[in-house]
Amino acid sequence: MNNNVVSTISVEPHANPVAAAERERLLQDPVFGRVFSDHMATIHYTEALGWHDARIGPRGAFQFDPATLVLHYAQEIFEGMKAYRQPDGAAALFRPGANARRFQNSATRLAMPPLPEALFLESVRELVRVDRNWIPAAEGAALYLRPFMIATEAVLGMKPSSEYTYCVIASPVGSYFKGGARAVTLWVSDQYTRAAPGGTGDAKCGGNYAASLAAQAEAIREGCDQVVFLDAVERRWVEELGGMNVFFVFEDGSLQTPPLTGTILPGITRDSIIILARDMGLTVREEPYSIDQWQADATSGRLREAFACGTAAVVTPIGTVKGRQHNFTIADGGTGALTARLKAALLDLQQGRAADPHGWLDRLV
Ligand SMILES: *Cc1c(COP(=O)(O)O)cnc(C)c1O
Repeated sequence: MNNNVVSTISVEPHANPVAAAERERLLQDPVFGRVFSDHMATIHYTEALGWHDARIGPRGAFQFDPATLVLHYAQEIFEGMKAYRQPDGAAALFRPGANARRFQNSATRLAMPPLPEALFLESVRELVRVDRNWIPAAEGAALYLRPFMIATEAVLGMKPSSEYTYCVIASPVGSYFKGGARAVTLWVSDQYTRAAPGGTGDAKCGGNYAASLAAQAEAIREGCDQVVFLDAVERRWVEELGGMNVFFVFEDGSLQTPPLTGTILPGITRDSIIILARDMGLTVREEPYSIDQWQADATSGRLREAFACGTAAVVTPIGTVKGRQHNFTIADGGTGALTARLKAALLDLQQGRAADPHGWLDRLV
């Protein structure tokens, strides 16, 4: 592996950026992931040169040979993070170093060369600087950033690629679920699992999502919003949603979330909520929770709230859980008080309205 690093990123501004009036119109109420900024960051990797040719340029299509490895064996990883508009107009990222390190862990798991943390941070920061006018100002809105890396060697041999392209694109977003903070209904998948021990469950790779789509389609057919996956071995322990971690809130005010055993994606929102809740003096357990216990506790009233969390949707209350063997509603099926409080605390911090005792905000100048 070649660990050679280029330290400067070149910037080639778009010759025909979206006109200001059109951009303002697009920023009004963007549907998640459909509107994109003018630029993208790219960095290339070859075994001979290492990471090289780092640039910000006009956003545009890639051209690939049909034999390109990623198209066949899904050697691909990604990240998801946001740039937030601050009260003084500045832009800030939230814990970007955590995304950089997780991207390295994902790369290692997928036999890809880890991108040096400094290069990851530089590419994301520089793209946000260049496209800062694309950060929406509305409450809960942000510029969603999608760093990803794909295997670009054109060969059908089953092996790790010798060439890669890393890219960052940016998309202004409002709230993830249409209808905002409405509580979601989950479908307990008893047929499909998301990740098995020794698999790629704790790597952020596209393959995990491809494997979850049939379960998600089943959830929609059953009238639910999202799937909740159980562990692949005992089919008993609650793991996470297709793209969000889960928390449970009990009558004594304590919280619980499944532990990071290797089959669950280590969410940065999950980690931040654990810390924020402990800052509030609350007890947080990272312990397994079974689907049957969830039903029993919801029915007895011992469980007061449940919510899902992730960068895209922030904090989303869970109202009802359905499956072939389960059907229960948590409290009144709406948004719990602590769920709302944690969501507000996180958004206040990210949007620069609250103190930042852990130094999580990365303000760009
Ligand atoms: C990205 C992701 C999450 C949430 O992670 P955050 O860092 O909080 O955005 C949770 N589960 C899966 C499967 C994910 O891909």
